[in-house]
Amino acid sequence: MVTMPEVINLSAKITEQLPIELVDFMQVAGEVAQRQGQKLYLVGGVVRDLLLNRTNFDLDLVVEGDAVNLARELTSINQGKIVTHPRFGTAKLKWDKWSVDLATARSETYVRPGALPTVKPNAIKDDLFRRDFTINAMAIELNPSRYGQLLDLYGGRNDLEHKLVRVLHDKSFIDDATRIWRGLRYEQRLNFQLEPATLQLLKRDIAYLDTISGDRIRHELELILKEEYPEKVLHRADELGVLLKLHPALKGNGWLAEKFEQARKLSSPDLPSTVLYLALLAYRLNEEENEQLISYLRLAKSVTQTLRDAIGLKTRLKSLANPELSPSNIYSLLHGYSSLAVLVNSLASDSPVARQHIGLFLSKLRYIKPALIGKDITRMGLVPGPGIKEVLDLLLEAKLDGKVTNKRDEEGLVKRWLARVER
Ligand code: ATP
Ligand code: MG
Repeated sequence: MVTMPEVINLSAKITEQLPIELVDFMQVAGEVAQRQGQKLYLVGGVVRDLLLNRTNFDLDLVVEGDAVNLARELTSINQGKIVTHPRFGTAKLKWDKWSVDLATARSETYVRPGALPTVKPNAIKDDLFRRDFTINAMAIELNPSRYGQLLDLYGGRNDLEHKLVRVLHDKSFIDDATRIWRGLRYEQRLNFQLEPATLQLLKRDIAYLDTISGDRIRHELELILKEEYPEKVLHRADELGVLLKLHPALKGNGWLAEKFEQARKLSSPDLPSTVLYLALLAYRLNEEENEQLISYLRLAKSVTQTLRDAIGLKTRLKSLANPELSPSNIYSLLHGYSSLAVLVNSLASDSPVARQHIGLFLSKLRYIKPALIGKDITRMGLVPGPGIKEVLDLLLEAKLDGKVTNKRDEEGLVKRWLARVER
């Protein structure tokens, strides 16, 4: 008996789960593609997430034919903006608050491990075969006659049902070892497991992470740090011997989970949580190891500064735990370090006193300034020069410690100082 492949139509699911604007867009796009004699598919993460009932509005469309041509016609319909890369056969379309990626179906071959692939236009079948995991290698047809039909050539739906992350072929991690990190990320995000053979391949191919540029590894790490629970991925990476490829001295153990959890509690829109996470991850490195990590990942200047400051401050934590410190003592221990690095040390410290001192600095002390400025002091008779800075420091210290509270107090202090030096 010949069994026909099961036809699964997801059009009802699409309507249910995606915003009406995107649904309308896809229907029109399918009609236009049809008219142009092309085939259009919704692919990748959004298909996976539709089947999992997870919210995802990042539409990736693949065209069997020419994506740029289709994208151009679609922008003339919805009056959106378009950015095209004709050489790669891709286009990004934006309108209102929406953004959609279109790509020409292509196949990839890897000249050597870790090299960027050689790309040529091809059928959807090959486009799906070049993808990282079966759960990301499904497509939904959008042309009107077959609108909503699932194209599942590599067993993606079965793997979703069994909660498995599976590569499409045995050379997958060799071709592109960033998939090692990606696999861990999906496994932990979705509470899946690496399928046993995939897990073996992953372990076998860990060394191929050395074929990947630091820039690409940093990109994967950033994606991990944007996950809801990055520590789960880092823990798993540690367990499998992947984390040590970032730096051999990194640890993904329980300490990290505890600190990430605390960091999340602080989160506010203007707190760059990925930098905070990264600094916590790097925190237990020494200065030399930290520099190695910074140069491997080619971290941006500001991130580099945060990591250096965070680690530089570690040696001061002991002093900060002294309950006798005055506000000006606290200030002089902490000012000059980036505030994010100060925060990292508060999270990292186990001393409630140190934490309290750091909290006082971040919420209050760092904003304190004397009422008088340099000009006021020269007007009071001090000649411009290094003496000004000395007086301003004195005023700040007095203000931090509550010894002066207003402009008149400060003027009194300057007068006494002048009288003393003139004698
Ligand atoms: P996420 O929810 O993390 O965004 P996604 O599946 O949308 O997941 P993207 O990084 O946006 O992931 O990539 C889109 C699609 O491109 C993936 O679903 C996958 O099919 C493919 N892809 C991305 N990176 C790779 C890679 N390194 N190797 C093979 N395929 C990849
Ligand atoms: Mg995506």
